[in-house]
Parts: sequence; structure tokens; C-alpha cells
Amino acid sequence: MSPDQTAVAVPAMLPVMRPWLGDAEAAAAAAAVASGWVAQGPRVAEFELALAARLGAPHAVVVSSCTAALHLALVLAEVGPGDEVVVPSLSFIATANAARYVGARPVFADVDPVTQNVTVETVQAAITPATRAVIAVDQGGMPADIEPLRVLCHDRGLVLVQDSACAIGSTYRGRPVGGDAELSAYSFHPRKLLTTGEGGALAISDPDQAARARRLREHGMSVSAADRHSSGRTVIEDYAETGFNYRMTDVQAAIGLVQLGRLDEMIGRRRFLAARYQAALAGVPGLRVCADPPYGTTNYQSFWVELADEFPLTRNELLEWLLRDGISARRGIMAAHREPAYAAGGPFDLPVTDRLTTRTVILPLFHQMTEDDVDRVVSSVRSAAAVPGRGAA
Ligand SMILES: *Cc1c(COP(=O)(O)O)cnc(C)c1O
Repeated sequence: MSPDQTAVAVPAMLPVMRPWLGDAEAAAAAAAVASGWVAQGPRVAEFELALAARLGAPHAVVVSSCTAALHLALVLAEVGPGDEVVVPSLSFIATANAARYVGARPVFADVDPVTQNVTVETVQAAITPATRAVIAVDQGGMPADIEPLRVLCHDRGLVLVQDSACAIGSTYRGRPVGGDAELSAYSFHPRKLLTTGEGGALAISDPDQAARARRLREHGMSVSAADRHSSGRTVIEDYAETGFNYRMTDVQAAIGLVQLGRLDEMIGRRRFLAARYQAALAGVPGLRVCADPPYGTTNYQSFWVELADEFPLTRNELLEWLLRDGISARRGIMAAHREPAYAAGGPFDLPVTDRLTTRTVILPLFHQMTEDDVDRVVSSVRSAAAVPGRGAA
């Protein structure tokens, strides 16, 4: 091998996502450990207040995951066996699973071809006399057009739950997504923007529901362990209903508080990088790039492109192509109805979902990504688009 060849720098593999964590998060976690109180305690309470303020929500109840938050939301909504819950199939599978946790049946609604989210029309088509609730997802951070869905659910006497797992800091008509919801769930998994390792939250409008959610996350206890500890008196708690252990730890909440303070910077950086992608990929034949809807803004938790029929490569071929260029991309949003856990409930008539799940690709986008990194992905995608292909025929 010649010296020239060994001198060629091989660029490191570009990941699709990397959490943005630093010394401040490490110090906050260490302080929680040093305090001796590591389970749910004062830092969780502080995180809840800060989160509610940021979302403009009356109450925020922090839990162990967004999946736990969705489960609690359906318990609060009194959904149970015999009920149906309308959900998009085009979502992470936890959305549909939440309906099954309470013994209900998820019924799949198709989605809008542009936003990838359910609409009044697609939800209406899935409503039956057994429908009790609807879960609308803000897919990849893209806000759903929620106001018409609220009107529909209100008119039909249905509970509307927002699965805003990916959408912290996205906006709908100028306000943070989910902050004014009856029930909206968020995720703090590292694949999302703000992370606590694992974690989630439920924004709740009604104070009694928020109090019930706080009991339900802690085994149904009437007085939380932290409150008993700090009361200085003997307090005997009682258990009025069957609860769960869905608590977040104070170590996680300490990290979450730091992350929340960085949220606007995270969103600003993602939107800046997304705009660079959009400008550079505009006009590539056969490629549709995600963008803000007319009624709101996305935090670009996922930056996705849709391959039209004339794009020369299939979804999997493009993923392989990117990988050969040292770029780790992902297939688009999964579709629950195509998975063995749900497929038996078919046949399903979800043409837009089927197209989007097989023809979208999520490109790398993370805080520490450089403009050169974006340009590297763009040039790989552009060279793929220039392959003489079947589509052009
Ligand atoms: C990530 C995600 C969830 C699950 O979040 P966890 O915090 O991992 O439980 C639920 N719904 C959607 C739409 C998601 O993207």
C-alpha cells in the first residue's frame, strides 16, 4: 500500500441521531446523587413546574416513559375493555400498544400524505359506536392539525389524547404543541430532542386528573413517598385504586432540568440544519422533503424525505447507498398494522400509510452536526438521485 493511500482520511460514520449532553447534565446528576435522594423527589417536582411553564400547560406529570404517559392518559380517560381507540398505524408501535394496555382495541386511521398525521377525515372514517378515544400523533415532531380534531372529538363525546412524544417545542398556531391539550404525552428518550435517558411526561388540563395521575404513577398511593418523608410527621397512606410504578428518578429529573434550559437552542440548531437540507435538496427529481405545515412549526425531531415513483432507488437501496458513503440513515416511520403483533386484525385499507412507511427515509440530524456533515449527506442523496434508473423510463 502506498503512503498516499494510507494518508486518505476516512470520515467517521455519521449517525442518524446523537443526544446533546454535556458537563452541566453530568454535574446536575452528580448533585442529585450527592444529595442522597435519588428516587422521585424534589427534582422531579421542580422539573414538572419548569416543564408546565415551558409548555404553557396547567399541569405536567413526569413519568418513566412516554409509553407510561400514554397508558395513564387512557386510564384517566376511563377507556377499557370493549372500547375502541382510533390511532394512526403510522407511528412508533407504543401508540397502538397503549390501547391494548387498558384492554381496548386500537383501530387504525390513515394519515395525511404531506404531514404524515391523522386528520378529521381519516379519523372520521375509523370511528364506530364503540369508539371512546382518539390518539393523534405529531409524527417526527410535525404538529398535527389539532383544532379540527378537537372539535370532532368534542362533538362525538370522545377523549382526544395527543401523542406528542417527538414534538416538544414544536408549535401549533404560535403555541407549544400539547400545552393546551386535555391530555398530551411527551418522550424524553435519547432518540427525541430533550432526553433524561428514559422518561416521559403527561401534560394535563384538569387539576383533579393531574392529582390522580400523580397517584397512579406511584402505586395509587394517596400521599407520595417524597411528601411523607418531608412532612416530619407520621403519615399513613392509603391506596384507593390499582396504580403503577411509573416514577422518574431525581437523577433523571436533574438532567431533564438542564436539558429543558437548552431546548430552544436545540430547536434553533435543528431548524437551521433542516433549512440547509431543504435548500440543497430542493429540485432533486423524485424527492419530497419535509417542511413546516401552514399552521405551525416542527422541531425536526426527524428530518425525512419521501421517494416518489420516479426516484431511481428504492427506500432500502437508498439506505444502502448512504451507508456505503458512511452515513447512517433510517427507514421512515413504521406502520403497526404491518407488524405481526397487529397484522392479524386486517385486512387494512391504509394506502397513504403503506406508501409513506415504504417510501420515506430519515436523514441524520443532530445538534453537533456540522454544515459540512449536511453537505456530505446532500451530495450522497444527489448522486443517488442521478443514478440512471427504472423510474425515469
Ligand atoms: C418514541 C415514541 C413513543 C415512546 O416513547 P418512550 O418514551 O420510549 O416510551 C411513543 N409514541 C411516539 C410517536 C414515539 O415517537
